[in-house]
Amino acid sequence: MHGQADELVSFYGHDLKLVECSAKVAAAYHIVGDASRTLWEVYPDLQEPIGRSHVKTVLASGLPRTIAIEPEGRSLLLFRGELGLGVIEKRIGNALSKASGEDPDRALLLHQARHDALTGLANRRQFSNDLETNFPGTRAHKLALMQIDLDDFKPVNDTLGHGAGDVVLKMTAERIQALLRDGETAYRLAGDEFAVIQRADDQPAEAERLAESLVRAFKEPFTIEGIGVFVGASVGIAIAPDDGGDGEQLMKAADIALYAAKNDGRGRARMFNRSMMIMLEQREMLRRSLRVALREQQFFIEYQPIVEVAAGVVGFEALLRWRHPYAGVIPPSLFIPMAENDGLMAEIGSWVLEQACREASTWPSHFIVAVNLSPAEFLQGGFTDRISTILDEVGFPADRLELEITETVLLERTTENLDMLHTLEVLGARIGLDDFGTRYSSLSYLQNFPFDTIKIDQHFIRDIESNPKGQTIVRFIIGLAHGLGMQVTAEGVETAGQAAWLGKRKCDRLQGNFLGAPMSAKATHDFLRRKSFAMHRA
Ligand code: C2E
Ligand code: MG
Ligand code: MG
Repeated sequence: MHGQADELVSFYGHDLKLVECSAKVAAAYHIVGDASRTLWEVYPDLQEPIGRSHVKTVLASGLPRTIAIEPEGRSLLLFRGELGLGVIEKRIGNALSKASGEDPDRALLLHQARHDALTGLANRRQFSNDLETNFPGTRAHKLALMQIDLDDFKPVNDTLGHGAGDVVLKMTAERIQALLRDGETAYRLAGDEFAVIQRADDQPAEAERLAESLVRAFKEPFTIEGIGVFVGASVGIAIAPDDGGDGEQLMKAADIALYAAKNDGRGRARMFNRSMMIMLEQREMLRRSLRVALREQQFFIEYQPIVEVAAGVVGFEALLRWRHPYAGVIPPSLFIPMAENDGLMAEIGSWVLEQACREASTWPSHFIVAVNLSPAEFLQGGFTDRISTILDEVGFPADRLELEITETVLLERTTENLDMLHTLEVLGARIGLDDFGTRYSSLSYLQNFPFDTIKIDQHFIRDIESNPKGQTIVRFIIGLAHGLGMQVTAEGVETAGQAAWLGKRKCDRLQGNFLGAPMSAKATHDFLRRKSFAMHRA
């Protein structure tokens, strides 16, 4: 058995009541459910004067202490964590207790230098060391490297607080540890990045087995303060010596595989292969050409009708497109994240806003235009000024503009964001909450922010006629929005049946290919001319 796996980790609050513990501690000390236990009950040895004084020192000074306890060969490493006190119990037979035979203080320092205090896992330093010393010297032996990255860690930290984030990281470490066999070691590299080194020659079979069980282990929610939180994991795998001739190359390969796993929709494992390199190079090429796209006038906007159930078409949503000179038309879902990452989105967003307002000012004056805002634009300084300048320059009335934001915008800097939304409201613009129901839908947003409309994400609409649960959710959102004095728009309406179902439930507006697919500015113009012509004739 590898040393790491023998560790029993538990955490106590400042009142020394047990807050969290690893499955091994729970089993060893018969801790079930939420029965409250104190440090003294789990480790009675610490009640001795020397134990009490160590606990006091650790909490007061933050300096870790190790103390030997009965029966022989067990020791406790006490350290201060964000929650209060952390305890790592070591049992005989692992490398540390052997080393500590000669000099316990040195062993403790060694342990601290190579381990992460929060999770008790080996740290990046130990990782580099292990990767180098275990790197296979011949093709007869193999080593698999797995990079594990949590998919939705940041929102947990941002919405539930760092304490909750720490708990997730600790539980992550435990879930990983629980799956490891002989020859497999887990590390915490940084933040929410973990890694496993697997010394096994039957590859890729062994790596696939472990990666699959890792991904599966994160399909279950974490329970934090009674709330179930889903935090998936993506895994990138590279195998030495095939995918890299040294530690650094192997890391790069595992990184590329991890990137591919994230790109494939996260919550999955991918094994490195050469074609990933080609994909990555293509993305890099796109990324580079994105820098000149604005200057070369490669962007254009399509407009999709927004239909009010009672009144017909009331306006259009502006949807950005990029016509790449070689690659053709590229959808926003591909290039907007790139532009956001590269800091280009504020500039592109200003262009969209100005262009959309210009084109919309040629429409009859009762049609509105809805423009999507990316968090990157919204969070940049001077955002509201920029909007009012554009409206002034174009001479477009603010009350014909609807700005669509997503919940991600609201996760950070909440009071400032609230101020910005109020400023936009004062300008006279309407504000819509896009893709509602997909991410961290927190009802407190709805109480605090002055939305005019909520857009129900298309994934609830897709099977609305046949999915009773989806129906309940949609009915609930409609009732909630109306109760708060907001309108509701359903996105992605593709069939007459869906439109009828939504109309009957008093959904105010519909959008989707059934009512009209996105079309060019010219087609929009023609559509409106035909419409007003038809109205004049009627
Ligand atoms: P969104 O704002 O939720 O836009 C709706 C998306 O659903 C659009 O995808 C639209 O073409 C698509 N859609 C409309 N009707 C149907 C339908 O009946 N069935 C299906 N399956 N899809 C339908 P699109 O144009 O690919 O845009 C994707 C996302 O990219 C948008 O989602 C929006 O979040 C973002 N986006 C688009 N333009 C801009 C922009 O100018 N700025 C920013 N920041 N984001 C933009
Ligand atoms: Mg939208
Ligand atoms: Mg949407």
